[in-house]
Amino acid sequence: MSLLVVGSVAFDAIETPFGKVERTLGGAASYFALAASHFVPVRIVAIVGDDFSDKERAVFKGRKIDLSGLEHAAGKSFFWSGRYSQNMNERTTLTTELNVFANFKPTLPDTYLGTKHVFLGNIQPDLQRSVLHQLKGKPRIVGLDTMNYWIEGSNAQLRETLKHVDILTINDDETRQLTGEHNLLRASRHVFKLGPKILIVKRGEHGALMVHPKFTFSVPAFPLEEVHDPTGAGDTFAGGFMGYLTKAGNMNEQNLRRAMVYGSVLASFTVEKFGVKRLAKVTSREINDRARRFAKLTAFKL
Ligand code: AMP
Repeated sequence: MSLLVVGSVAFDAIETPFGKVERTLGGAASYFALAASHFVPVRIVAIVGDDFSDKERAVFKGRKIDLSGLEHAAGKSFFWSGRYSQNMNERTTLTTELNVFANFKPTLPDTYLGTKHVFLGNIQPDLQRSVLHQLKGKPRIVGLDTMNYWIEGSNAQLRETLKHVDILTINDDETRQLTGEHNLLRASRHVFKLGPKILIVKRGEHGALMVHPKFTFSVPAFPLEEVHDPTGAGDTFAGGFMGYLTKAGNMNEQNLRRAMVYGSVLASFTVEKFGVKRLAKVTSREINDRARRFAKLTAFKL
């Protein structure tokens, strides 16, 4: 049972109160794949330039991550740089250089065409839909992430794509922007009319909220003494969530709740160090230990 992800594979420059890195492997699909591959084999669909070397490739090696859908084009890879505020709650994007990403037309290798579990990372909504169209047969679970840029600039295209989506994972501002509703529960009713059956609102240090027509579930962010770099936490959450759910095989309530916990657990490793440094080293044992501590953290009797 494999999970396909389409999205950015990038180089990032990051500045937080804990330090600075000039160039590190990033991109939503990178974080997603590293997290999800702890549960199921992952198939990446993305594009990189000729600056993407064996050093970056090595980060994905030795894991269940298929790079045959990672296209190499002449030019530079997507580059993003950002700076965090002193309390890390605000992020300023300093640079977004699309480079080879500007002409990205996702093309699925033949070996990917039967994939049943799909995550459409944050790219232009028509391109997200083109991935679904290339698949043979209807996928079992489709997740989608998007951002303010597409909600504003490609709203009609996004709405068309959302008709084919089961799970929407976005942050609170994006939820409000998409639905025009400030209250997240009311916003979810609006989202259900657009297509998705489940809304997951990523709330940074406040954790994540899942709204399903029959129940609502909330997880905190795992409490840590030091957060060094929040970059990629949302993509890691999505990878842990979708990875667990794909492995579990169906979207029943218990599986959805546990998937939320694994998403939060994986994200808590990402933020401990810069870029993918910590996530790329985390072991299944560490993940399971933290999941058990998470269960204790949130347990109570009535
Ligand atoms: P997050 O912190 O979860 O929002 O994800 C940050 C990652 O998203 C970084 O590694 C960036 O390379 C990548 N990223 C930033 N802006 C974009 C964009 N416009 N499209 C796709 N990926 C992006």
